[in-house]
Amino acid sequence: MNISVIGAGYVGLITGACLAKLGNQVTLIDTDKEKIEAIKRGECPIFEKGLEDILRTAQLDARSDIGSAIKTSEISFVCVGTDPGDGSYSIDLRSVSEVAEAIGEASNDHCLTVIKSTVVPETTEEVIIPLLEKNGRKAGVDFGVCVNPEFLREGFAVEDFLNPDRIVIGEINKQSGDILADLYKGFGCPILRFDLRTAEAIKYASNAFLAAKISFINEIGNICKELSIDTYNVAKGIGYDPRIGDKFLNAGIGFGGSCLPKDLRALIGQSVSIGYRPRLLEEVLNVNEAQNLRMIRLLKKHIPDLRGKNIGILGLAFKAGTDDVRESKAIGVINALLSEGAKVRAYDPVAMDNFRRLFPEITYGSAEAVLASDAILILTEWQEFASLDYAGKIVIDGKRILKARRAKIYEGICW
Ligand code: NAD
Repeated sequence: MNISVIGAGYVGLITGACLAKLGNQVTLIDTDKEKIEAIKRGECPIFEKGLEDILRTAQLDARSDIGSAIKTSEISFVCVGTDPGDGSYSIDLRSVSEVAEAIGEASNDHCLTVIKSTVVPETTEEVIIPLLEKNGRKAGVDFGVCVNPEFLREGFAVEDFLNPDRIVIGEINKQSGDILADLYKGFGCPILRFDLRTAEAIKYASNAFLAAKISFINEIGNICKELSIDTYNVAKGIGYDPRIGDKFLNAGIGFGGSCLPKDLRALIGQSVSIGYRPRLLEEVLNVNEAQNLRMIRLLKKHIPDLRGKNIGILGLAFKAGTDDVRESKAIGVINALLSEGAKVRAYDPVAMDNFRRLFPEITYGSAEAVLASDAILILTEWQEFASLDYAGKIVIDGKRILKARRAKIYEGICW
């Protein structure tokens, strides 16, 4: 099929590259001209396992002008960002709206617009469709609309996109859903079809549940640590119950990234705006925030005055397998360390360039240089951290790197 993907970030790049790999004619569109030039040169603008190979070999067009590509596309995927970037309890619809308006102006007669950006329930009906219809054509009559939330995990994004556990389609009408279901027909997983707002809600419910599961096990972990109980054994013991499941029960420093915190805030914000205060979701966020300070408290048990002390950070990416530092836990922890007067030295195998833009004032170096600090905090579960020599060190571990237990002083955050 002839497909355009608007927004060549983490989601758009993966969507475009994977659909091209499957034999579709794909055009990636992004306002970031540098990114487009890099893609044209066959370079991968982000670190994501397997993506570079696809970008090098797949037939992919890339451009910054939206109109020309839309005119010839059968399907246009909207994958632009919705993060307000300031921690507020809403989504930023400026990019989505701009793109919807441009599609509305440019689109050909039978084009299907698919919203992959994460938008709160009702957004497609209340905001996006009116913009698509601005030139007088009618959604569901003259052109199709679907919501198709993305559930990929950064670090496993290609694998997840090509082997999803389910595909959720929200459709304005059967004809729209049929086109999208046809595109995905070889994927070998359940395709669940609903109305537009249900598909939007599924994405938020999914992320809220995952976030709740993490904060839940972290809270159990915080209790267990006080009682000298290994939380990971407790997690194992509960995980065999199929009603609970054994995934996402790794207690630690909590969740970061570009999705869980922002989606939780947006859902809370929408909920409050319609008159319901979601107390459980608010506490999921609060428990998560508090884990940062727990790392600092545990560190101060061993070094009460951090002024002038060299504190090493292992791991800046919000999780292993990505260079994405958006809402990384390292941000909160490093801010707290700096405000205590500590000197911070950090290492990450792939995310240092991105992090340097946020924190130019700290020192970056090799893992060995970080190990020479007065104490070391482990914040990302990179595999290479399991082969470092921690002997003689003070280590506060937010990610359960077992080898670090050989340190002179070792504190796990929840164990
Ligand atoms: P991103 O910031 O990595 O990428 C967004 C891209 O859109 C950028 O390259 C930006 O230059 C481009 N853009 C912005 N305005 C544009 C415009 N008017 N026209 C063309 N391009 C424009 O964001 P992302 O992480 O890919 O997320 C995109 C959406 O997908 C968000 O709503 C996010 O919540 C959702 N999502 C993300 C993930 C994830 O793991 N990153 C997973 C599921 C869903």
